[in-house]
Amino acid sequence: MSAGPFRMAVASRALVACALAVAYFAVAALTVRHTRFEGGVAFIWAAGSLLFGALVVADRRRWPELVAACALASFAATWKYGLGPAAAGPLALVNVLESALAAWTMRRICPDCGDLKSLAEIGAFLAAAGLVAPGATAFAGAAVASMAVGVPYWPNWQAWYAGHALGSMAFAPLVMLVLRGDFAGWVRSAAARLRLEAAVILLVLAAVTAAVFAQTRLPLLFLPFLPMMVAVFRMGRIGATMSLLILAALGIAFTVRGLGPVALVQGGDGLRAQFLQFYLAVAVLMALPAAGELKQRKRTIQRLEERSALHRLILDRTGDVILTLELDGSIRFVSASARQVFGVDPDAVVGGVAGDVLHPDDVARVEAAYRETLTHPERTFTFEYRVVIGGREIGWFETHSRATLDAQGRVSGAVCVIRDVSHRKEAERRWALVAMTDPLTGLPNRRALDEALADRLSAGDARPATLALFDLDRFKSVNDRHGHAVGDEVLRAFADVLRAGVRDRDLVARIGGEEFAALIDGADLDAARGVCERVRARLADLEIAAGASRLRVTVSAGMAPLPPRGSASEVMASADAALYRAKAEGRNRLAFAAQV
Ligand code: GH3
Ligand code: MG
Ligand code: MG
Repeated sequence: MSAGPFRMAVASRALVACALAVAYFAVAALTVRHTRFEGGVAFIWAAGSLLFGALVVADRRRWPELVAACALASFAATWKYGLGPAAAGPLALVNVLESALAAWTMRRICPDCGDLKSLAEIGAFLAAAGLVAPGATAFAGAAVASMAVGVPYWPNWQAWYAGHALGSMAFAPLVMLVLRGDFAGWVRSAAARLRLEAAVILLVLAAVTAAVFAQTRLPLLFLPFLPMMVAVFRMGRIGATMSLLILAALGIAFTVRGLGPVALVQGGDGLRAQFLQFYLAVAVLMALPAAGELKQRKRTIQRLEERSALHRLILDRTGDVILTLELDGSIRFVSASARQVFGVDPDAVVGGVAGDVLHPDDVARVEAAYRETLTHPERTFTFEYRVVIGGREIGWFETHSRATLDAQGRVSGAVCVIRDVSHRKEAERRWALVAMTDPLTGLPNRRALDEALADRLSAGDARPATLALFDLDRFKSVNDRHGHAVGDEVLRAFADVLRAGVRDRDLVARIGGEEFAALIDGADLDAARGVCERVRARLADLEIAAGASRLRVTVSAGMAPLPPRGSASEVMASADAALYRAKAEGRNRLAFAAQV
């Protein structure tokens, strides 16, 4: 049972080798019979292309049987139609060696070059099959010919090299494409319309080629290149190959009858045969690289289309706004999401200046970030700003920006991804507030006072200002007598008194347990004394109702002027020292730090 498939595989391999040998024999017989114009080697050599093409396409393990089959075919063709039995053996060896050398060299230079789809692959093919292999074997071929029939060595070397190199260039690509099954695959997969179009183009090509080669007056050899290039552009490599097959078949058929522009060539039949091969090789070298390049472009376009589909998807789905800007900040493109995010019509804003919607306080910062973006195209920049549209601030936005480059690599503008961060900003603001607020009284806390003091001191404001520290008197006993809850109530009551005692722009803070502060702006010690005295007196007069209890508390305060220069800790220390004195002097009073 298991021998069945194996036998079938062996049988089909044998069949392929036989078919190759028959084709090789037919082509070799035709060329040696009709193109040994000067009695030596043939001037046209297409049989080698069959073996070369088969070896390039086939698995390495099948090489021996393919080489052996073609060696036999070559032997028979030379014996019967060529240089005779004595030369048949050595020539067969040289012929198959040449094809094997070409295939081996091509695989060495470029392992995956079998289908000639790029310029590099075509270059590898030309080096192997057009240069190395025929150049090397021409020495042996010419030697065999001159020994066998006494023809001169160098003319035969030239005829061999030209015939074999041009023959390979003209025919091997066609053989490779046919053997790879590209034709069959294309015919199966092409749409009916494309097949019809292909048939029309190839018919036109056949008609033009026939017309050119049927006459012998005008050298119109360039004319078939027109429909051939149309076929290349419309059908790619398949179009190139089919055109070349038609061109070669009709060109050879007419030329061997002595018709066509090749007959205009001055010289012998050998020169004309070489000229025809040269012509076909030029056609191949024109059509195949163009087809290869087109194929690569098609692939590039396909990749670009995939990428642009991805971009469209991202643009459609993202909640972010994507914006591209010109160098001057005017809007080149804005994604549809601008409608939801900014409430603007994306088409209407194109051409406008993006900076026009910035909050005035943010303009300088954003402009600086945009300049940075343009000067460092290798980096992405992130910045935040507020947007004002129609006189209304619509929120906070975060932008990631990166420079765009033109084809010459120069900065041409920027692409920005814009996200609404209003919620995050609001949360940040709330957390900042929480971090700066005393939960019991709702007043700013010690951290807020420290910042305000530092800001005021660093601002270099020449107007006077006074820091007052308040400490409730004998507050511990309030707690002890009435309980902690009543103590809290008293703290809140004092917070109200303090708040009410100063102007809105003055900062009051709870900076510790029963310690408070007021930063009284624009007030020297005298003016501040009035304010603090009022606070002290109001508290002293206040009867605080807390639960069932009614009580009175007093407060002492220490005051220090803010020095024109100096640190927050210094002014805190002097106010604290003054407070200490107020306590020491009997409480329920104010004390002043020494003037600085
Ligand atoms: P002095 O006149 O010397 O300032 O005496 P005092 O009792 O006020 O001084 P001390 O600093 O010893 O006591 C402060 C008290 O304040 C101690 C603490 O129990 C109380 N306290 C601190 N924070 C709170 C609070 O948040 N709520 C309440 N109810 N009491 C607090
Ligand atoms: Mg205290
Ligand atoms: Mg106290």
